[in-house]
Amino acid sequence: MTDVRRAPGHPRRKAHEVGPGYTLVGLGRALVALVGAGPGDPGLLTVRGRDLLARADVVVYDRLVDPRIVAHAPAQAELIYAGKGPKGHAMEQDEINDLLVEVGQQGKAVVRLKGGDPFVFGRGGEEASALARAGIPFEVVPGVSSAIAAPAYAGIPVTDRRYASSVAFVTGREGDESSGGRKPWRTLAGRADTLVVLMGLGALREIVADLTDEGLPFSTPAALVHRGTTPGQRTVTGTLGTIVERSAGVESPAAFIVGGVVDLASTLGWFESRPLFGMRVAVTRSRGSVSGLAARLADLGADPVELPTIAFGPPDDFSALDRALATAGAFDWAVFASPTSVEYVLGRLGDLGGDARSFAGVRIAAVGPATAKALARRGLLADLTSPVATTPGLLEALASEGLTGARLLLPRTDIADDALPEGLERLGASVERVTAYRTSPPPGLEDAARVALARGLDLVCYSSSSTVNNLVASLGTEAGGLASVPSACIGPATADAARTAGLVVAVEAREHTIPGLIDAILEWRSRGGGIGS
Ligand code: SAH
Repeated sequence: MTDVRRAPGHPRRKAHEVGPGYTLVGLGRALVALVGAGPGDPGLLTVRGRDLLARADVVVYDRLVDPRIVAHAPAQAELIYAGKGPKGHAMEQDEINDLLVEVGQQGKAVVRLKGGDPFVFGRGGEEASALARAGIPFEVVPGVSSAIAAPAYAGIPVTDRRYASSVAFVTGREGDESSGGRKPWRTLAGRADTLVVLMGLGALREIVADLTDEGLPFSTPAALVHRGTTPGQRTVTGTLGTIVERSAGVESPAAFIVGGVVDLASTLGWFESRPLFGMRVAVTRSRGSVSGLAARLADLGADPVELPTIAFGPPDDFSALDRALATAGAFDWAVFASPTSVEYVLGRLGDLGGDARSFAGVRIAAVGPATAKALARRGLLADLTSPVATTPGLLEALASEGLTGARLLLPRTDIADDALPEGLERLGASVERVTAYRTSPPPGLEDAARVALARGLDLVCYSSSSTVNNLVASLGTEAGGLASVPSACIGPATADAARTAGLVVAVEAREHTIPGLIDAILEWRSRGGGIGS
C-alpha cells in the first residue's frame, strides 16, 4: 500500500512502527481523550465529545460537569469522580495524572471530562504531559470555555469593534506557577481592552484595587457572572468602583469581566430575561413525553425537573381487546380517547398480523387533535375530532352524529372512569369497553418526588388526573408539601383532580394540549405568577 498522503521528508511508517509517544498498546489509536465538557449548559458539549463519551469504557469527570453530560456514557462505563472543589479535594492533581496513565495503560477507552475547555485554566496541559511521558496516545477535544460562554450568556461579547479589539483571559489565583507569584491581571491592566478573570472571586477586592492602581478608571464597567449558562446564572454589573460592594452574595464559580463591552449586557442580556428564567418546573407526564415538554420549558428559560408519574404497559389480559379487534369491522364507531390508546390498539393489531384495514368501514372518533395525529401516523384519518381533548368536548361533537342504536368500540386504560362511556350511552349508543393498556406509577417515583420537593419547585405541570393522583400518592404523608407549589393543569378534569387532592391550581390551559398548557403558563407568568414564590 502506498502512502500517498505522506508529507515530503517524512519517513514511511508501517502501522505497528509507532512514533514518539506511541506504544504498541493502542496501535496509534488515542486511548485517553481530554474532553471539554463546556461551561455548564449540557447543550454546549461538542458533537465529538458526545461521540467519544458514547463509547467510553471509563469516564473521569470534574466537579462542575453536569450529570446529564456524564450520562452520555454507556450504562456499563466506569465513572470516576475526580472533582476538585474550592475547598476539599476529592483527588490531588498528581493522583489524577497517575489514574489517567493507569487506565490508559489498560487499553481502555478513557474520556477525561473537564469543565469548559481542557486547556483553559483546567490543568489539561499537565494531564496531557503525564500521558505523553507515559507514551499513552491521547486526543484533545476543545470545549466551550466559561471565559467566553459566561459573558455570552450575560449578553457581553468579549470583543466588539465598538468597544474592544482585544481580550485577555487571566487567572485570579495569585501565585500560580506560571506567574511565579506575579499578578497577571496587573500586567494586563490597560493592555487588553477586555479582561476576563476566572477563579477571581476570592481575591476580587485585591484584583480591583490592583487594576485601579495600574490606572484603570473607577468608572470602567465590570461584571460578575455566576454559574453562567445554567438555570442558576446570575449577573451582577457595575464598575470597578462599585463591583466589590455589589459582589456580596455572589459565589464561585463566577467569571469577572472588565471593560467597555460590559455596557452591552443591559441590552443584550438574553438568557436571564427569558420568560420562565429561574423557575424550577416539574413535568409529570409519562417518560418519553416528559422530555418534549421539558425541552420546550427549558427553551423558555425554565429549569425543568423531569418527574414521570405515569408509565404505560400492556394490559394484564388481552382477550377482550383481541376479541374486539377480531370483529372490529362490525362496529359503527371506534372512539380513541388518547394517543396512547391509538398506539396500544394499533400495536396489538400489528402483533396479531392485522393492519388498519380492520377498521375499514368503521367511523373513527378522536378525542383532541393529538389523538387524531397519532391515528394519522398509523394510516387512519379520524372522521370526527373533538376540538378540545375532554369528555364533554367529545360528547358534544358526537351528539349531532345520531348515535341511537350505534355500536361503539371504546379501547381505554385499566383505570379509566365511566364518564365517557356513560355519556355515549346517554346518546343512545351501546358501548364496548375494552382495556387496551395499563397505567401505573413508574418504579422509583417516590424517591424522585421527594428529592424534587426537597430541592424546591416553583410550578408542577399536570397533564391528566392520573399524573396528579400518582404524584400525590407517591409522596404519602409528605404530599402536604405539594400544596404550596402552584399547579399548571392541562384541562378541567385534571384541574378538578388537583383541587380534590388539595393542590392550588394556578394555571388551567384553555386549549387542552401541551402548547396550550405552555401558553397558559406564559400568560400566568406575564401577570406576575410565580414571582417571589
Ligand atoms: N477550563 C474551564 C475553567 C476552569 S477554572 C473553562 O474553560 O471554563 C474554574 C473557573 O472557571 C471558575 O473559578 C470560574 O471562574 C470559571 N467558571 C467555570 N464555570 C463557570 C460558569 N458556569 N460560569 C462562570 N464562571 C465559570
